[in-house]
Amino acid sequence: MKNKTKLIDSGRSRKWTHGAINPAIIRTSTVRFETVDDLKCAKSDESDTSMYYGRDGTTTTFSFCESMAELEGGVGCVVSPSGLAAITSTILSFVASGDHLLMVDSAYGPTRGFCESVLKRLGVEVTYYDPLIGAGIESQIRSNTKVIFMESPGSGTMEIQDVPAVVEVAHKHDCVVMLDNTWGAGINFQPLSFGVDISIQSATKYIVGHSDIVLGTAVSNEKHWTRLKEGNQELGQRASPDDLYMAQRGIRTLDVRMQRHQENAIKVAKWLTQQDVVDLVLHPALPDFHGHEIFMRDFSGSNGLFSFVLKSVSDAAVVAFIDSLEHFKLGISWGGMRVSYFQMSLTQELEFERQPRGHIKIR
Ligand SMILES: *Cc1c(COP(=O)(O)O)cnc(C)c1O
Repeated sequence: MKNKTKLIDSGRSRKWTHGAINPAIIRTSTVRFETVDDLKCAKSDESDTSMYYGRDGTTTTFSFCESMAELEGGVGCVVSPSGLAAITSTILSFVASGDHLLMVDSAYGPTRGFCESVLKRLGVEVTYYDPLIGAGIESQIRSNTKVIFMESPGSGTMEIQDVPAVVEVAHKHDCVVMLDNTWGAGINFQPLSFGVDISIQSATKYIVGHSDIVLGTAVSNEKHWTRLKEGNQELGQRASPDDLYMAQRGIRTLDVRMQRHQENAIKVAKWLTQQDVVDLVLHPALPDFHGHEIFMRDFSGSNGLFSFVLKSVSDAAVVAFIDSLEHFKLGISWGGMRVSYFQMSLTQELEFERQPRGHIKIR
């Protein structure tokens, strides 16, 4: 992100703050109108600056969405009660029965779960592509391919996708390109500036940043904004003004938090590369990581999340190692102040049983 000062000032117009420094937390279901004309005006306002009904957001929502759109460089943002909800409702807003969707093979597990359950049930065909495919994605595109879904780096295995190469081919075939940008968080990677149509985040992670709220966002470019917004409304997606207020507060400190996350994680990652028991350290900012060049070309920084693979040792040894750690405890999720994310993959229950993944060969 070029102008990080924007993170401090975005979403602070008087419309939302009434002159206070921060936006007011407006909680309501019903918005009261004095006249029929006032109600009609609010209903037909396309600018998303009039409150009409609580589900569609209050000024707290509009202020947060303005900040997110600014962060991701898009024209508008919709919110959902979780990152997964943002992913599923965004996909559902763009596909219909008989369509085909290309999903990156290294996608976040529950994203894949949604493809295998809901999309399958609805008659949307899904095929999984190699995250390292680049322009080769053209061979996977069919006449009914509607959406190409990306995630970079991939969950767990961290593959960096060649986003501009995929986007160029996708747009030639009129496909909508969506990208799960949770890792890049809008600050280290800005998908829309590389031509991606919609950038989705689990704001639960770095936007909120303190492990106390579950929230999702999707930011669109001009072309797909209306459909994204309408689809989100059709599905009844919403998030509470209290959560959005806190998430916006997270945006204010995103830059400084991210710098520290990055410094700390690189120290730990480098240390791990020197340990005998470590087979692979999967961190895109390390020079010998496969995909490091694309990372350097497209990203402006890293964060606190990376993976490593231990050499073949017994499960009992892995368990003893993890249980003995002082600062790292087990837990789901990442992006907060405490331990990033510690996902254990024992030999019998490898996470990486999906299709072969280019350079990453895990046992
Ligand atoms: C956590 C995560 C999600 C899901 O977010 P929730 O807010 O937990 O629903 C989606 N994508 C990625 C990459 C994630 O890490």
